[in-house]
Amino acid sequence: SAALIGATLAGSAAPVAAQARDEVARKVDALLAKMTLEEKVGQLTQLGNGIPGPNKETTDELIRAGKAGSVLWTVNSDDIARMQRVAVKESRLGIPLLFGFDVIHGYKNVFPVPLAMAASWDPALVEKAQAIAARESRVAGINWTFAPMVDIARDARWGRIVEGAGEDPVLGAAMARAQVRGFQGVQPGGADRVLTSVKHFAGYGAADGGRDYDSSYVPEVLMQNLYFPPFQAAVSAGAGTVMSAYMTLNDVPASGNRWLLRDVLRQQMGFKGFVISDAFAVESLIKHGYAADTSDAAARGLTAGVNMDMASNTYMKALPALVKQGKVPMRVVDDAVREVLGVKFRMGLFEQPYGGDAAQRDAVWNDRAARAATREAAQRSIVLLRNEAKALPLAAGVKRIAVIGPLADAAEDIKGSWTVEGSAKAVSVLEGIRARWPQAEVTHAAGGDMQRLYPLPWDAAEGKPAPKRMTDAEMQAEQARAVSVAQQADTVVLVLGERANMSGEAASTASLALQGNQQALLEAVVATGKPVVLVLLSGRPLDISWAATRVPAIVQAWFPGTEGGHAVADVLSGAVNPGGKLPVTWPRSTGHVPAFYNHNLTHDNDTGPHFTSRYATSATSTPLYPFGHGLSYTSFAYADLKLDRTTAKAGDPVRVTVTVRNTGAVAGDEVVQLYVHQRAGSAARPQRELKGFQRVSLAPGAQQQVSFTLGRDELKFWSPVTRAFGVEPSGFDVWVGGDSTATLHAEFTLTR
Ligand code: BGC
Repeated sequence: SAALIGATLAGSAAPVAAQARDEVARKVDALLAKMTLEEKVGQLTQLGNGIPGPNKETTDELIRAGKAGSVLWTVNSDDIARMQRVAVKESRLGIPLLFGFDVIHGYKNVFPVPLAMAASWDPALVEKAQAIAARESRVAGINWTFAPMVDIARDARWGRIVEGAGEDPVLGAAMARAQVRGFQGVQPGGADRVLTSVKHFAGYGAADGGRDYDSSYVPEVLMQNLYFPPFQAAVSAGAGTVMSAYMTLNDVPASGNRWLLRDVLRQQMGFKGFVISDAFAVESLIKHGYAADTSDAAARGLTAGVNMDMASNTYMKALPALVKQGKVPMRVVDDAVREVLGVKFRMGLFEQPYGGDAAQRDAVWNDRAARAATREAAQRSIVLLRNEAKALPLAAGVKRIAVIGPLADAAEDIKGSWTVEGSAKAVSVLEGIRARWPQAEVTHAAGGDMQRLYPLPWDAAEGKPAPKRMTDAEMQAEQARAVSVAQQADTVVLVLGERANMSGEAASTASLALQGNQQALLEAVVATGKPVVLVLLSGRPLDISWAATRVPAIVQAWFPGTEGGHAVADVLSGAVNPGGKLPVTWPRSTGHVPAFYNHNLTHDNDTGPHFTSRYATSATSTPLYPFGHGLSYTSFAYADLKLDRTTAKAGDPVRVTVTVRNTGAVAGDEVVQLYVHQRAGSAARPQRELKGFQRVSLAPGAQQQVSFTLGRDELKFWSPVTRAFGVEPSGFDVWVGGDSTATLHAEFTLTR
């Protein structure tokens, strides 16, 4: 609404028109004054669709009684519209509901998974993708997404690494900001936007052993310097809500953690929206051995700073009595409700409670531009890991292509986890290759199989039948068939990796090895002597050390979404020159995790004769592919690395420029990356830290100057000694190049 222009959703970022803020505050207070205690608690309650109330009330009955502020997991547009009508027309105060859903990487049109989107190193692309996802879900009536997931992940075993932007706080912050802008818009209130929920606050990615939901122990120095920055970026971009995590952080559950939710989130980061717990996380305070019972859980969740209880109905059951008994002050409830209502007013929910009608949904969902955008996104997120002797691109005139592997024709798996039922049918790699080489003879064999060993918990709960598994004998027969299909081809495209349900929530793994018979299939197909291209579909780095010395071309396609098969074929054919770069370090084996580039220097790291941190059982502990790695069909040269000054006062900016040139024969993209090392200070600093990046497109022979600023924001860090953020006087190294092992070097000094 016009009065709100200039205000951000959370009221925390860009200059907030004081008038608009006052107006919202007045509306909130006027409404609050009319509310009963039960209605207030209602605004702090998100119902899990289908979960009955404490007295067996249906969802509609609870809404009508004003006992719900939001509903979770409803996707059917008619159901959403009906519930919203009950809230707006039949409840006493007519406060509209938030309909929350995990719109993570597209709704009808599925974009690459978030880790893949981060591999594009292209925030503008990410913003555009999430704007499309917002429009497609808002028209369905969904007005709140549980995204972006901005948890830093250093452990590839953790299944949810697929949902984030990888291991780096600067790349993570850029992706967080872009997603918030895409979903919510720069100004709140857009009728084709959705409210965001930045998650999971905080430290979820540090789960012990990479096991989902397990405890995290993270020192404050890492929280401040590694895990918080993407949250800060999302908050500064105006994210309306934040989701508190499931696990205990340093023994205090994140969803009952006052330090996290009040001291850090509100005071340090300036968050002004509202906090929702992760699903059932308020109730889980009991399981954690933290809260004694339901009342204790409700009191401690609320006072810690969780405004809204997701799905557990703990607030509904316990808060009214707690207030009446004087155990929780009404003021605490009122403040929490104010923040929820403030967000609802600022996002224009009262003016725009409903989604579109069937015709509008049809128009938005079948927008060809949206589908085309998923293809562009997939093209830009694909990473060419290896390309010996120019094995790729494949010749245009190739006659016989064998497309082999359990994922070769997996049109459902290619979308990745977190897709809504009824999302657009996707294009498999096999289909993409057939379309790209219509003249060629394209043959196919699955060659075997792989599945999760136990089903996803919610699939099991819903009684979804387990997928049919191949027996060992069937796998062997299928593998033999694949080998003979390969023998009759000129080129083999081998599509291996993970099924969609092997990455994501409740999908951690004890092994990064290729599952099922995939490793055996790989070795058998390579043994045919035919040229092989390995295409990986996965939500995490997998152990491909064997392939990395024997297969000339390896393409990391992640889970590329609706148009994934076309995008892969575009890259294999050279119609698109890949330019994606790894947002995660690629370890050599499971035993090499956690692997991340921004660690501190040991005496000699991997190379020295004495104090080496290398494993005795492994030739090297360097990664298989470094953070930031990605090849191209052209080559780039860097030159003229210059600083505008080599000495500056700590906090004053130093400007870095470099020239990058396309030295090959075809147009291509390069992600120019800037890394910094602080040589001395109040605490040790990582050997390298990404401080800037820019993706550039260059015609053959063309060059471009790229500049970065190293100012206070880039060089400050939280010191465990001063317990504050600051820029310290020190010598600094600077490297610029195409990955985190860049060698083009300069240095400067910051003085007091
Ligand atoms: C996940 C969240 C998600 C929520 C609602 C939880 O299990 O951890 O990421 O947003 O469910 O679906």
